Amino acid sequence: PIMARTFFVGGNFKMNGSNSSIKEIVNNLNNASLDPNTEVVVSPPSIFLQTVRESLNKKIGVAAQNVFYKPNGAYTGEISVEQLKDSNIDWAILGHSERRTILKESDETVSLKTKVATEAGVSVIWCCGESLEEREAGTTIEVVSKQLASLKSHISDWSRIVIAYEPIWAIGTGKVATTSQAQEVHKAIRDWLAKNVSDKVAEETRILYGGSVNEKNCGELAQQPDIDGFLVGGASLKPAFVDIVNAKQ
Ligand code: PGA
Repeated sequence: PIMARTFFVGGNFKMNGSNSSIKEIVNNLNNASLDPNTEVVVSPPSIFLQTVRESLNKKIGVAAQNVFYKPNGAYTGEISVEQLKDSNIDWAILGHSERRTILKESDETVSLKTKVATEAGVSVIWCCGESLEEREAGTTIEVVSKQLASLKSHISDWSRIVIAYEPIWAIGTGKVATTSQAQEVHKAIRDWLAKNVSDKVAEETRILYGGSVNEKNCGELAQQPDIDGFLVGGASLKPAFVDIVNAKQ
């Protein structure tokens, strides 16, 4: 029997927001009418994680934007998986391209973090995607496959992984991938999972699209067979995020 994948929309606030603006976002979400068939997770900067978790409707998940791969100890500036669990944070975004490029996280680092998080019961929105140069060179599938191969060499339980395909050239640029560009890579990721992990994992894993998703372009993307939701940056800070959550309605 084919298990329908639950549509998933994540909101990545990145390094944005203040106590007052985030309170407003939480109030908006708590009062909004959200598609009950969509899983929603928001990801505020770490300083706001606990307040958001305490004030947000429990049906909505909360994700850290990063987590370290070592247990508590002398790692100045980092946050541990234990600390996330202790604050009831059940999700983390890992391998976002901003961390891969600006913070120089390697495939190996991202994979290790994903292993430690998922083994401790923290689910992961694991991000991958190509740069503009890589797309123009025709190496998109190769780049994403290499990122997936690194992940595969570190983890065995895929049930806590949601994959976000985020072409770097589409992030924060207003330049969204076309539905066929996105669907093509999502299909390639699913085929990779079927070939290298299992048919079951390929069928059950949600693959999100991220990169300039807004309330206007989400509807058509949401219709693609291999697009199971979105990871939303800029628009997740706005009331229109609710329309993206409801893209399937
Ligand atoms: P954007 O960011 O929606 O602002 O393009 C997406 C992301 O980086 O997750």
